Amino acid sequence: MPSIRIEKDRCKGCEQCVKECPQQILGMSREINQKGYFFATVVEPMRCIGCRVCCITCPEVAITMHVHGTMIHYFRY
Ligand code: SF4
Ligand code: SF4
Repeated sequence: MPSIRIEKDRCKGCEQCVKECPQQILGMSREINQKGYFFATVVEPMRCIGCRVCCITCPEVAITMHVHGTMIHYFRY
């Protein structure tokens, strides 16, 4: 079962991941992060299909997928 983690303090609140998730299970928090942005969160983790679109979409590389304890990180910069 894949698990998505969002590093909230890397998020700039662009909402791209929210728009692109085919399951529509990502949303924006009502809290702000260290940068002063509302950050993305996983609202319904059980419905994630592991497509990784959110990981690829995020311009801040704030989203990683974890499968059986292994982190899958697509970009690192
Ligand atoms: S992996 Fe796919 S289904 Fe899961 S949160 Fe990301 S975009 Fe949505
Ligand atoms: S795409 Fe990345 S930076 Fe934009 S809202 Fe989602 S997690 Fe935040």
